[in-house]
Amino acid sequence: MKGSCLCGAIAFEIDGPYPKLYQCHCSLCRKQGGSVSNTGLIVAADKFRWVTGEPLISTWIRETGFRSYFCSRCGAPVPNPLRDTGYIWVPSGLIDGDESLEIAAQLYIDSKAPWDELPSGGRHFETAPGLTELIALLHSRST
Ligand SMILES: [Zn+2]
Ligand SMILES: [Zn+2]
Repeated sequence: MKGSCLCGAIAFEIDGPYPKLYQCHCSLCRKQGGSVSNTGLIVAADKFRWVTGEPLISTWIRETGFRSYFCSRCGAPVPNPLRDTGYIWVPSGLIDGDESLEIAAQLYIDSKAPWDELPSGGRHFETAPGLTELIALLHSRST
């Protein structure tokens, strides 16, 4: 499947089979995504490639390691490597087309905005599982 930023200058492709998505309601993700939560995919680096625009990516990294990569032209969040895991984090709103993706996990529901109504689907976590456990959950074929 293909994805692109708001202005279209940055584009990428992901090979299937596609993992499930998670939705994070923590305060950092809310600010980074500008909404009630961030919904993302975690894909293996060898299934991901840039099509165009990689030099336009700007980065901001918080002291704690939380990182935001964004298009320097339109400001949209863009994919970035998930530390040294060999996986890439992809903001799901950038995906073009009608792929049928599924959200499998709700993270940091303990710190969600008071006006945030949680979807009933997916596993709910008060905070978040470890990264290895989360990646395994999102890549499992059965629910
Ligand atoms: Zn852009
Ligand atoms: Zn978060």
